[in-house]
Amino acid sequence: MSVIEKVTVLGTGVLGAQIAFQTAYSGFEVTAYDISEEALDRARHTLDGLIQAYKADDVAGAADGKGEQALSRITLSADLGSAVADADLVIEAIPEVLELKRDTYRKLGELAPAETVFATNSSTLLPSDLKDATGRPDRFLALHFANKVWQYNTAEVMGTADTDPAVFDAVVSFAGEIGMVPIPVHKEKAGYVLNSLLVPFLNAAAALAAGGYADPHDVDKVWRIGTGAPVGPFQMYDIIGLNTPYNILSHGDAEAQKLAAWLKENYIDKGKLGISSGQGFYSYGK
Ligand code: NAD
Repeated sequence: MSVIEKVTVLGTGVLGAQIAFQTAYSGFEVTAYDISEEALDRARHTLDGLIQAYKADDVAGAADGKGEQALSRITLSADLGSAVADADLVIEAIPEVLELKRDTYRKLGELAPAETVFATNSSTLLPSDLKDATGRPDRFLALHFANKVWQYNTAEVMGTADTDPAVFDAVVSFAGEIGMVPIPVHKEKAGYVLNSLLVPFLNAAAALAAGGYADPHDVDKVWRIGTGAPVGPFQMYDIIGLNTPYNILSHGDAEAQKLAAWLKENYIDKGKLGISSGQGFYSYGK
């Protein structure tokens, strides 16, 4: 397929704004769509915040006005039809609600040119859950970013059995062009690569502490000393925020639900949500 030049991002929330900004920062013309003028006002605010975040994190070029230039390459729109009218790639980052996504893909399938590629940033849905709604399963796949895309710059690329290999390769190349490290995932896998590793790891740590085998700080210590890793699993809980792992565990089996209850009673109910609340498994002096 031909190269990707024009990109539209659907949803300008946490991830959508970051994806739009990072793509524009890399020199692409970007249209960012959201459902209302209010949402676009929030997006303007979020994008201004990203200019500052890139400066604070010393991203190359940020101090020389590259963020401001990136912003000038982003067109905000609340009109889906015109937002996707000449897009080569549409990256969808709307809320993680199956029916909302399927409904959006149905509309998108009718409005976008036949050759436009669609990519979902969904964290927990498989592209197979959405592909028939797109009307173009051969031009649809997942392109999964991590929060703080400029820093945690992996982009997991995962198609379905129907995805055209040329489309897959084009999206892998595009991910590299916007400063991501593309991680091709060759078969569909819930959780992609990162969360397939991380979720069982975090659960195992919780099981050790909740079962009374070792204290959280000692679990972290043995992991850091024994493997040379910079942080242990409970430090990771604090970085992620305890609500997300709690939500995942509370939808799991009986064992997972016990761990969810342990997290809730001992930490979440006490306002210990992680770094964002100043306290989690560690205190952060806020
Ligand atoms: P968010 O709630 O911050 O943002 C969602 C945005 O979508 C909002 O601006 C909302 O107004 C907009 N929206 C709602 N309905 C819409 C529609 N029909 N069309 C277009 N826009 C619509 O959500 P988020 O955290 O950015 O997550 C978005 C997607 O990215 C989800 O699929 C999530 O799984 C995935 N994701 C999130 C993270 C994360 O850390 N937050 C990381 C990786 C992937």
